[in-house]
Amino acid sequence: MFRRLRAFLAVDAENRELIRAQQAAFTRQIPLLYVMLMVNAVALAATHFKIAPLYLTVYAPLALCLGCCIRIHGWWLTRQTEADHSQAVRQLQSIVYVGIAIGTGFTVWSLSLFPYGDAYTQSHVAFFMAITVIGCIFCLMHLRTVALMITAVVLVPFTLFFLSTGNPVFMAIAINMAIVTIPLVYILLKHYDVFTKLIESQKAILAKQEQLQALSDDNRRLANIDSLTELPNRRQFRTEFVRRLQHASERQGTLAVGIVDLDGFKPVNDAFGHAVGDKLLMEAARRLRAFAEQGVFAARLGGDEFGLLIENDQSDLDLKSLADRICASLREPYCIKGITAKVSASLGLVSFPEGGQNAVQLFERADFALYHAKQYGCGQAILFSEEHAHQITRRSRVDQELKNADLEKELSVLFQPFVDSQTLTTIGFEALARWDNPSLGRITPDIFIPAAERAGLMSQMTLALFTKALDAARQWPDGTRLSFNLSAKDIVSSATIDAILTMLAKSGFNASDLDFEVTETSVMANFELASSNLTRLMDHGIGIALDDFGTGQSSLSHVHRLPLRKIKIDRSFITYIDTNVLSRNIIRTIVDLCRNIDCVCVIEGMETQEQVTILRLLGCGVMQGYYFGRPMPLEETLVRLQNEARPDSGNLAAAVA
Ligand code: C2E
Ligand code: CA
Ligand code: CA
Repeated sequence: MFRRLRAFLAVDAENRELIRAQQAAFTRQIPLLYVMLMVNAVALAATHFKIAPLYLTVYAPLALCLGCCIRIHGWWLTRQTEADHSQAVRQLQSIVYVGIAIGTGFTVWSLSLFPYGDAYTQSHVAFFMAITVIGCIFCLMHLRTVALMITAVVLVPFTLFFLSTGNPVFMAIAINMAIVTIPLVYILLKHYDVFTKLIESQKAILAKQEQLQALSDDNRRLANIDSLTELPNRRQFRTEFVRRLQHASERQGTLAVGIVDLDGFKPVNDAFGHAVGDKLLMEAARRLRAFAEQGVFAARLGGDEFGLLIENDQSDLDLKSLADRICASLREPYCIKGITAKVSASLGLVSFPEGGQNAVQLFERADFALYHAKQYGCGQAILFSEEHAHQITRRSRVDQELKNADLEKELSVLFQPFVDSQTLTTIGFEALARWDNPSLGRITPDIFIPAAERAGLMSQMTLALFTKALDAARQWPDGTRLSFNLSAKDIVSSATIDAILTMLAKSGFNASDLDFEVTETSVMANFELASSNLTRLMDHGIGIALDDFGTGQSSLSHVHRLPLRKIKIDRSFITYIDTNVLSRNIIRTIVDLCRNIDCVCVIEGMETQEQVTILRLLGCGVMQGYYFGRPMPLEETLVRLQNEARPDSGNLAAAVA
């Protein structure tokens, strides 16, 4: 029985939200309840002041009011501080017991006043008790148990007491009050029910909201993360870049932006499959993440490209050394599923504020530096410099001029001879384009060919140059070969290939004396299409030469699948051939490879007699370099061919030997 009563009086401590809501309601209502009680008590004490003893009209109400004031003070303090859950439970629990105590105190006190005075003052006691019950029910609505207990503590003695007076008016008041209390208690219970349900539904809404928030946080995270490497993705990189740039400019600090591109990733992917490729990217990402401690924020921009933001106010020298360490780390072998794959990484860097002012410009410049890193130093980091800025300005001027250029008039072709390495007689010429612009002067092809590709003028330019080359080649003796360079754009354009074939047929030049030179990189950009177009050319009897061999990214399996007649070993391999054994061994291996796949081996770029002597010993078939002749105009080619045709010529071979 006692335990049940305790349970009934206990506060539902498990329901945290309900406790919080009850506490919030009471913090406002309880002080009001005490004020109301005190005002009522003072009024009752005043009407009995002269007729009842002092201990009932002064001391007892004073003691009760003091109790009320202490409680008001307690609640006032709660208002100032945020109570934690257990404090709130204790406070609510205290209302139950303190409420019963104070309720009993007021009941006993008011009933003790009843015997004094006349009918009016006695009615005041009845009124005091009735109004107190109603006030308590209203103010304590949010804690059902207290409201009910206090109602019981006041109402039961009130009803019994007044019924026992035998006075019909007081008896009527007592019955009347008991009857009025019934609907009041009913409303109290209903209200409490609605209140708890409201809290429950608020709780459910809150839980739903939290769930939605978690879901949207998850979505945001996924939208900003690269699912393979778990690095931030391009979108996150962009946001972070803009944020850090803003921060750097506000605190007048520096920020470096880098773009990393893995060299040789595609062949690994092609040779070992995507599963190995994916693992390699994950490992590369892990290595980049390890630089976080050194202030490097890394993101995957797509494919085998990563973006870096470096934010620790470094000097250019420190930055370069950090970038070199990043490249070195990415160059370490990758051991995946029993395979050891090797790739290197090129890194283009630019630093704010010297290297550029805004995000777009900085990113473009990092990309430009990366292009240089890839072009001139695979596996290296290159920091954007003033020289690069100068090149960009020049590049944009070239782009501008190219749009208005009269290609037919301004373009011309020079011819560089290539010779048989045994007889050293001229076999043919490579056509090399030149552009003479009225305002820019002479521009070399490595500048204007990429510009023409950017401007979408490549096909037009190739056809103009090819016409000029054919016109010249027709003037050479039969059997003199013509080599013509095709760009990456040309070999994937079926329309350009069609036009070239038509042009060739019209010219009457012998297709079997013609070679088209293509670079590894241009073929690799779209291997299937390039390969099918090259096969079409080959079907017409034209030879295909793989240019700049050894500088691109192709794998031998691709070389094998191309319809090649010639392989041209890049000039960079022979620069140190007279001093470097490794260079000689590489050339010897490629010469062997050419022999095995039945290709003519052409070596480019010999400038000295020593180089020529060594190359002849290594057994390459054809040579082309300044030693045998620089690119020359048509007239000079004709003189050269004429001279060689003279019976007294032919002592060049003897001179070299
Ligand atoms: P490439 O096809 O590798 O051409 C050989 C380049 O090396 C030529 O530069 C040539 O002058 C240079 N060279 C030849 N022998 C030596 C040597 O002994 N020492 C040195 N230092 N250089 C030597 P060029 O004429 O400036 O051409 C550069 C590149 O522009 C060419 O490289 C080729 O990729 C491209 N190109 C030239 N003409 C055309 C063209 O008509 N169409 C296309 N698509 N590209 C062309
Ligand atoms: Ca070439
Ligand atoms: Ca070449």
